Amino acid sequence: MSLPDLRSDFPILAQRFHNQPLIYLDNAATTQKPQSVIDAIQNYYESQNANIHRGVYALSERATVAFEQARTTVQHFINASDPKECLFVKSTTEAINLVAYSFGERYVQPGDEILISAMEHHANIVPWQMMCERKGAKLIVIPMNQQGELELKDWEKLLTPKTKLLAITHVSNAIGTINPIEKLIKTAHQAKVPVLVDAAQSVPHFKVDVQALDCDFLTFSGHKTYGPTGIGVLYGKTKWLEELPPYQGGGDMIRQVSFSKTTFNDLPYKFEAGTPPIAQAIGLAAALNYLNELGWDNILEHEKQLLRQATEALKTLPHCRIIGQASQKVGVISFVLENIHPHDIGSVVDQYGVALRAGHHCAMPLMEYFGVPATARISFGIYNTVQDIEGLMKALDQVKTIFTPKG
Ligand code: PMP
Repeated sequence: MSLPDLRSDFPILAQRFHNQPLIYLDNAATTQKPQSVIDAIQNYYESQNANIHRGVYALSERATVAFEQARTTVQHFINASDPKECLFVKSTTEAINLVAYSFGERYVQPGDEILISAMEHHANIVPWQMMCERKGAKLIVIPMNQQGELELKDWEKLLTPKTKLLAITHVSNAIGTINPIEKLIKTAHQAKVPVLVDAAQSVPHFKVDVQALDCDFLTFSGHKTYGPTGIGVLYGKTKWLEELPPYQGGGDMIRQVSFSKTTFNDLPYKFEAGTPPIAQAIGLAAALNYLNELGWDNILEHEKQLLRQATEALKTLPHCRIIGQASQKVGVISFVLENIHPHDIGSVVDQYGVALRAGHHCAMPLMEYFGVPATARISFGIYNTVQDIEGLMKALDQVKTIFTPKG
């Protein structure tokens, strides 16, 4: 393995459940936090806590510097050209709602179209649907095939003069497919269609460079990237962010307020109404620094090996169907076992310390396409090991034993 055993950096992994060591395989839902992130948050509350931006005293200045440094860390992490292009939001969900609202208000007319794909998380479907309903616009969907890959033959025909935006996931949370995002962005741009990339499941696994991608918007969540909950990032090119109206009104996002008129603050503050998630931003920066220190080549190689080994192991199980077998995947595997409900799989393996997710993974249209109501899903993070896969396979053996009819 190209990464050292990192379990000791993550205090939660020392816990036992049902008298078994924790085998945490639900990283696509949320990741665990290294001690350095926990320390950064604790240190903030112990020695930096004050409200930011308007304080004239030293403590507030210290908090402001730490918060804005966190923004610069994010900027370098995704290679944005300016920190003002990196907005702090609550989550990927909030970021997509922000763009759906503000972009919709500014640019979308009745009869216009928003293009998404068949493998989107509900967070990249519902905000667009709501906006389309408000604006009289239409949602168009790029189809997918049984491999779990986008059907891209002739997809450019879906880009019409009516298409106002392509909003698409970089990596599927349900089946792990990595979409050819550079190509999609290039083709969309040739048709003068801007692109929002939902990078919630790519940023934790490999280097994402917004300038190399040339995406117009990109978003990810702190909690899936070894950072805290309550913090996400929305990257937007300056030209878009300058033009979009604010999403929420309140303190900090204004320049001048009177009862007759309000003028708005500069970027990024125009989109950060109210007291922002200060401690969470600082925690996120600590997480991004932790990942940088591990090195992306090491992370990629480590998770690739886990994906390969787990896929091979699951294929040896009789009556196991892996849902989504794209040629390019991150370490996410959805599967079903014939005649056993995924929730039963989840409950039984829990007795052996294995935490996996069972359900529709907030991707109901994808589940419908594959003809299953739910799957069991394992998803790897940097601290998972071959021993975790062995533990999973032993627990799955027990599932088979329990649910195989006797006699
Ligand atoms: N998009 C994708 C691809 C996701 O995996 C998730 C989280 N499962 C989201 C969006 C929403 O992220 P959050 O719940 O952090 O807002």
